[in-house]
Amino acid sequence: MTAIRSMVLVSGDRESIARGASAVFEKLQAEIKAFDLQDEVSVAMTGDVGRHDALPLVIIYPEAVTYGPVKSEDVHFLVEEHLYKGRIAQRLQASPRELSGQIAWLASREGTLPAEQRIVLRRAGLIDPESIEEYISHDGYEALGKALTQMQPGEVIQEIIEAGLRGRGGAGFPTGTKWRFVAQTDNYPKYIICNADESEPGTFKDRVILEGDPHSILEAMALAGYAVGANEGYIYVRGEYKLAQNRLAAAIKQARELGLLGQDIFGSGFDFNIHIHSGAGAYICGEETALLESIEGKRGEPRNRPPYPTTHGLWGKPTVVNNVETLANVPAIILNGANWFDDFGTKSSPGTKVYTILGNVNATGLIEVPMGITLREVIAIYGKGMQNGGSFKLAQTGGSSGSIIPASLQDTPMDYDSYTRAGVSLGSGALLICNEETCVVDLARVLLNFFAVESCGKCTPCRVGGKRAYQILTNIAEGTGKMDDIDDLKHIADNLAILSNCGLGQTAAVPIRDVFRHFVAEVEAHIKLKVCPAGVCAMSGRRVKVM
Ligand code: SF4
Repeated sequence: MTAIRSMVLVSGDRESIARGASAVFEKLQAEIKAFDLQDEVSVAMTGDVGRHDALPLVIIYPEAVTYGPVKSEDVHFLVEEHLYKGRIAQRLQASPRELSGQIAWLASREGTLPAEQRIVLRRAGLIDPESIEEYISHDGYEALGKALTQMQPGEVIQEIIEAGLRGRGGAGFPTGTKWRFVAQTDNYPKYIICNADESEPGTFKDRVILEGDPHSILEAMALAGYAVGANEGYIYVRGEYKLAQNRLAAAIKQARELGLLGQDIFGSGFDFNIHIHSGAGAYICGEETALLESIEGKRGEPRNRPPYPTTHGLWGKPTVVNNVETLANVPAIILNGANWFDDFGTKSSPGTKVYTILGNVNATGLIEVPMGITLREVIAIYGKGMQNGGSFKLAQTGGSSGSIIPASLQDTPMDYDSYTRAGVSLGSGALLICNEETCVVDLARVLLNFFAVESCGKCTPCRVGGKRAYQILTNIAEGTGKMDDIDDLKHIADNLAILSNCGLGQTAAVPIRDVFRHFVAEVEAHIKLKVCPAGVCAMSGRRVKVM
């Protein structure tokens, strides 16, 4: 039998599929057959590989040459040139050849600036996510094997604690500490939940991990289960993430067939099973206690806390709830050790962070970089500068629930402690970069509308306050605002922050507070001068420079 000499991967994220990746994939299969290369060349769909300006991408290994955007009519030429004649099909090439096996455009070309470093995305785009054999051939399930055969559960937790891994869902809570709380309770059964209900506008990092490397999440959940004494896990996946759900289901089936999930894993006596629970479109179900209610078949409303899920979680039992990106770090930490992980990022926030870059920059997409990189570096290196030579005005971090960050904070290291000291939140990982043509009143108005629509209605400050704040901001945007509105908005924000039952209401206060903290003159221009300095709001016919 002929050995496989080349592997062809087609980016298979939703955007690629919308742009014809499936047709490219089918044409590749047909052309490879037509050139009688089917015994030498394998072709597979992979997940999102992070670059969104050249989709669909075709990556050919072992050379790691990236082509894109590739249309189905390009495929004959591509197969003939690269796979049959052995030449780079230069007119389709998306990036220069990268000898290390990584994709060149993922790395910084500036030696002194931080290059992308991949831990959680290290296999995304490099393996066929529907093949457990490929996952295993890239160190897959080695960490689980190591833990089950060489480590006590407490040692697994200690390794995560020493690594300093913090929750990547936005709060930054120490993951090992959460695991230890659950391990210490003597109440069974216990549960591991992967929160994959990624619904923040502009955030899609978890989807990329799930679609590109689903087995890494299964392995991490099994490790967490072993560490805390749980034998059952749930992955709560956003309902719209059908591809991720399908790949997770296929991965669970494969892992069970090989005995990597189920009974007596690695002959250790440890049992672990995983179920997939599809969300139904409610943003609030990303809040961990609403998520628990939803899995239990109830209306997705947040619970009062305390008690916390670590003692009273799913069906009242001790439960670990971790975000997808958090879990994706776990196998690498167990395999390589806490000291290895410590070498990435900053002292108080070790590791990397996955960001989605959106907005008025020249290059949008997905990056994984060390903790501590600055917004200025993100814009300059990965965003390739502001569009049309514009200037940076603000960034919104973490989808709707993050902070609005002005230009004066763009050199603050992006890690949990530095951002907390600066009074801003890192959020879940979306970076909406805005130029000077963005109006802060309009931005806050859009965000408040989002929170008003997504409020579950359980408590009054959020149910009423969000709508009221949206109405006041609308009045200001339409030129009918009064100076008293500023005090009213501040009052609503205080009530939202202090009295709301859950994070949704509390974070609805953030855009209001950030706007008054950093851009009060722009709001006052709308009210006093009846102009929108950015020229966005409908009342504006002229531009006024705000000092
Ligand atoms: Fe529901 Fe909003 Fe109250 Fe949270 S803050 S419980 S989303 S009404």
